[in-house]
Amino acid sequence: MSHLCLEIEKLEVKYGQIIAVKDASLQVERGELVAVIGSNGAGKTTTLKTISGLLKPTSGQIKINGKDVIGFAPHKIAALGVAHCPEGRKVFATQSVEDNLLLGGYLRSFKEGRKGLMREMDRQFELFPILRERRDQIAGTLSGGQQQMLAIARALMSRPQLLMLDEPSMGLAPIIIDEVFRAIKNLRDSGEVTVLLVEQLAYRALQIADRGYVFEEGHVRLSGPAKDLLVSPEVQRAYLGAKAHS
Ligand code: ATP
Repeated sequence: MSHLCLEIEKLEVKYGQIIAVKDASLQVERGELVAVIGSNGAGKTTTLKTISGLLKPTSGQIKINGKDVIGFAPHKIAALGVAHCPEGRKVFATQSVEDNLLLGGYLRSFKEGRKGLMREMDRQFELFPILRERRDQIAGTLSGGQQQMLAIARALMSRPQLLMLDEPSMGLAPIIIDEVFRAIKNLRDSGEVTVLLVEQLAYRALQIADRGYVFEEGHVRLSGPAKDLLVSPEVQRAYLGAKAHS
């Protein structure tokens, strides 16, 4: 079996006449944390939505664990072990923390029953202890940072092979961003899940990533080991203004 969890070849995605992603190629190896950085409108979110099957590309290839998935419906992609944590942390606001987590694990519940789900929930509580304290709280009343942690934990409940995170820092205070990024780093270090992290805060993302891709106007401008991108004059000039946020 290929060691690649995700392979994207020459992807093009349009909204009507607007080309949002063009000729984008990207690979993610199993166990890696790969960051996709780039400014507003660079095509990062569009790429994630296309991987998830929410958007159909006009050309190019997407393979998940070596399997061609172009044209697959979102639920089929999810069943292949891809979990997508969208921008703006859409938790089920009127449900409790625990119910959000149980809903996240629902695909697995058929196989493993309630006991398996409860075990999985415990693992999430180890990663995000605050969620254990708040397990009966209604999700909509959590702070922004707690909702982001819940959104990630809920995605993890399906035990994905590939976790895709879209702008987990959005709208959070710097100290909370630290906490969320620490959890993402721990997740990567656990070796249990491969992570594709889309983030405008380039510096933060590259600090915890193995490799990175820099998107610009819909295409991949640069890519390489995260530590090289961090010191690249081009990246520093164009994107590490984000450093000022940290
Ligand atoms: P952001 O961080 O703001 O989400 P991004 O890098 O994720 O930026 P995309 O959201 O993928 O960028 O947008 C890529 C391009 O596609 C932009 O030019 C954007 O204006 C355009 N676009 C995005 N969504 C739509 C849509 N629903 N209809 C038309 N154009 C869109």
